[in-house]
Amino acid sequence: MINVCDIQVMKPLLAEHGFHFSKAKGQNFLIASWVPESIAEQAGVDETAGVLEIGPGIGPLTQQLCLRAKKVCAVEVDNRLEPILKQTVGEFENLEILWGDVLKQDVPKLVAEKFGALRPMACANLPYYITSPILSALLEADCFDSVTVMVQKEVAQRIAAAPASPDYSAFTVFCQYYAEPELLFDVPPHCFMPQPKVTSAVIRLKIRKERNWDIDDPAIFFRLVKASFAMRRKKLSNGLASGFPDLGKTGAAEVIQAAGFDENVRGETLSIPEFARIANEIARRR
Ligand code: SAM
Repeated sequence: MINVCDIQVMKPLLAEHGFHFSKAKGQNFLIASWVPESIAEQAGVDETAGVLEIGPGIGPLTQQLCLRAKKVCAVEVDNRLEPILKQTVGEFENLEILWGDVLKQDVPKLVAEKFGALRPMACANLPYYITSPILSALLEADCFDSVTVMVQKEVAQRIAAAPASPDYSAFTVFCQYYAEPELLFDVPPHCFMPQPKVTSAVIRLKIRKERNWDIDDPAIFFRLVKASFAMRRKKLSNGLASGFPDLGKTGAAEVIQAAGFDENVRGETLSIPEFARIANEIARRR
């Protein structure tokens, strides 16, 4: 197996194919072999797994996934990588590469078609310019056992944040609604070529089998969360009145009190079940 993380191997390989990194496609390739090994290992990939990889690049993580999983399906948007991947991962019979934009895929359909009864997992060193849309699509697809991804460290911290902490955001609530996050390890810039400006981190999102949030209307819940964080420095009643204009200021204050909270409560301190209580109170009044 070609060690694609060895820059003595990678550089001539890229040169042979006249390949130049595309910044626009978020191409920062791994050059430290411990990183893809640890991602595949700590994601828990084994012979029961069907793994969807996003952005194989020249294949360092793909190799590690193929060594462990029953089946790997990798989606890559940049077809200049085709001849390189033929050389680096062409030997794996359990690999299928799909050429295209992952955001244009019907993920649940793809997972059902490609993995059948296997345990579906997603694993990736994500292109950072579209971290949030990809993660949202993977979570909303609601068909994975777990999603293990490398992202910018600050995004990983935001995903795993606790209520009332500075990193807690609407994206935190969205991710934790679907999954239980676990920060695995940091990856410094020198592990990539070209080097990104930021430190990266690997995070595992274990998809919740049961979501006992008691939410009557998820659309109202997510609208409430968005409205709360849009004015995170202000009282929740302000965000509520602006996100739900039909309530008005008085209605917003009434909803907060009826849900059992102090009128001065701030949205950024609320847990998911607490947001649920307020969302249900809004839903009840409609
Ligand atoms: N997995 C490789 C590694 O770890 O060295 C490459 C990771 S690089 C950060 C991100 C990869 O995602 C690139 O190969 C890039 O071409 C690919 N990519 C970017 N946008 C994409 C999209 N919309 N759909 C699928 N792949 C995409």
